Amino acid sequence: MASVVVRDVRKSFGQSEVIHGVSIDIEDGEFVVLVGPSGCGKSTLLRMISGLESITSGELWIGERMVNMAPPKERDIAMVFQNYALYPHMTVFENMAFSMRLRKAPQEETDRRVTEAAAILGLTPLLARFPRQLSGGQRQRVAMGRAIVRDPQVFLFDEPLSNLDAKLRVQMRTEIKALHQRVGGTTIYVTHDQIEAMTMADKIVVMQGGHVEQIGAPLELYDNPRNVFVAGFIGSPA
Ligand code: ADP
Ligand code: MG
Repeated sequence: MASVVVRDVRKSFGQSEVIHGVSIDIEDGEFVVLVGPSGCGKSTLLRMISGLESITSGELWIGERMVNMAPPKERDIAMVFQNYALYPHMTVFENMAFSMRLRKAPQEETDRRVTEAAAILGLTPLLARFPRQLSGGQRQRVAMGRAIVRDPQVFLFDEPLSNLDAKLRVQMRTEIKALHQRVGGTTIYVTHDQIEAMTMADKIVVMQGGHVEQIGAPLELYDNPRNVFVAGFIGSPA
């Protein structure tokens, strides 16, 4: 596992700066939830951490390594998106095995990892199905399965539950937390759902307009919001 340090990171698209010097310290194994309104920069920040987007300035550390210039495949990060993007023509097994194949992992190791991940996620009976034969919750589980087969140091989730109905969201929340306890891994989880943030996070990062408003444990933010924006967002009475 590894810590993640974001130090005074900025991002510009053309002339326009959208991330204005964000700093976040995440401990090894911590479950951090990033919240804030649409457009505040949550996805951009995750994409920079994963290496899908370059950093305009600042430093990004994963464990002992500064990874500003490292390509995504060297960062040992797995990302789960809201629109799962499973390969429609591949079975559940093949979807989960794909990243291992890209890495040219030996067949037995791939089989073992996929079998383990499927067991953890309750996907064993579904391994031969295609994505179109799955429910929304099952697809979401396959997306998580794809992330855990590689045994990455860091998991990034970008609003993974926002396409699911309310009941399933509550269930998946519990499953994701159980998964984190079981497989470990430093996790950064983006949501705009306050309840999700309050119930899942070790630490919450509240963002607005490309900067961090406040960082703290759920109860710290609830009891001592720094300003009206944080209070409103966390839903505390202050
Ligand atoms: P969030 O995930 O919090 O909704 P985003 O990170 O998607 O926010 O977007 C933050 C800001 O950056 C928005 O103003 C968005 O329009 C802008 N932005 C994101 N990606 C690009 C891009 N590729 N080119 C230009 N602007 C972008
Ligand atoms: Mg987003």
